[in-house]
Amino acid sequence: MTDVIVTANSGSSSLKFALYPAEAGARKPLLRGEVTGIGSAPVLSARMGEHALVVTEPLNAIPADATHEWLITQLLQRLRGEYVMYRPVAVGHRIVHGGPTFEGPIRIDETVRRKLEDLVPLAPLHQPHNLAAVDAVSHIAPELPQVACFDTSFHHNQPRLAQLFALPRRLSDEGVIRYGFHGLSYEHIADVLPVYLGERANGRVIVAHLGNGASMCAMNGRRSVATTMGFTALDGLMMGRRCGSLDAGVVLHLIEQKGMAAADVHHMLYRESGLLGVSGVSNDMRVLEASSDPNAREAIDLFCYRAIREIGSLAAVLGGLDALVFTAGIGENSAGIRSRIAEGAKWLGAALDAEANKRGETAFHSNDSHVALLRIDTDEEGVIARSVAHALEQGGACA
Ligand code: ADP
Repeated sequence: MTDVIVTANSGSSSLKFALYPAEAGARKPLLRGEVTGIGSAPVLSARMGEHALVVTEPLNAIPADATHEWLITQLLQRLRGEYVMYRPVAVGHRIVHGGPTFEGPIRIDETVRRKLEDLVPLAPLHQPHNLAAVDAVSHIAPELPQVACFDTSFHHNQPRLAQLFALPRRLSDEGVIRYGFHGLSYEHIADVLPVYLGERANGRVIVAHLGNGASMCAMNGRRSVATTMGFTALDGLMMGRRCGSLDAGVVLHLIEQKGMAAADVHHMLYRESGLLGVSGVSNDMRVLEASSDPNAREAIDLFCYRAIREIGSLAAVLGGLDALVFTAGIGENSAGIRSRIAEGAKWLGAALDAEANKRGETAFHSNDSHVALLRIDTDEEGVIARSVAHALEQGGACA
């Protein structure tokens, strides 16, 4: 029997999970899977090592109304049935918002669970699903230690000016500051960067995490010095369904002039904007790239324009640029988007090797480029698993 750490990464419509050997530093999962389309048409795909897993009842035809709790419960039940050779010793969760309190991974007890609930209004799209997964595990396997790993932690030590809004001081004192997100993804990239860049990894790096949610992080010395997301995961780049940076006056206009209720504005900014809102076609970049609809094209143009502008802003903070890294669904898979954004960083000294980019090579800059252009797969689950192993070794918190 192999002791394993289970990782759970619950997104708004997805659940990624993996099993890692329960030893510090384990880098390869024994099993990895993902349920997409939760809430509409859920589908599970999973791999054990190099092989696709044949999925049996009832996970081969997941009910359309299946929740994150139902799925986690099913998965844990499998570990007691057909995968009994794996003995879970702990579960690690991606938790989107750690607020001002949580600086690093922490063992979840009742007090921590309550504090995480208080942060729901700051990440309404993700935090409830993250906590639903925690509750499902508590229900079915109360003896299992659970560890929260935060998307905000990586940015915790940003310079104060990078965190402050120009709002009355009492608000920043209350915690209304920029937190930043996608920290587990950035932690992974910071961790593996020396493999590709050697000493240059400690230089001025911008990482573009371009998925359904999208953000960028400026790193110096492999630490976050600025990022595009802020108080919530709504700020910064244009995303699948989220608007990204927005003149706060627009929100006032919608409420004061158009009489919209706060809940409707909320829904519009989180669910009906971004690629979906501008294209009127889809929030999925693959669909937009295949579409001949001019509005789909304009949505992609705006996505790239916003990314290029943010690179300019982050490069200004860094005082130049040594490397630009692309990761997550769009960053890893769309050569077209990578090439357009990299072209927009030409003025910083980035020169593209178009063929290497099309082939999806890790390094796709030309020999005379002053900026390294990299495509690196993210691995949030791996970061979670290693944090849990570390927490278990420490016997609890490992912040
Ligand atoms: P999240 O984890 O934030 O839900 P992902 O990192 O899985 O998102 O990224 C999802 C996005 O990646 C979607 O917009 C999807 O269209 C895009 N994507 C995935 N594969 C490709 C591809 N081959 N070409 C272009 N976009 C892709």
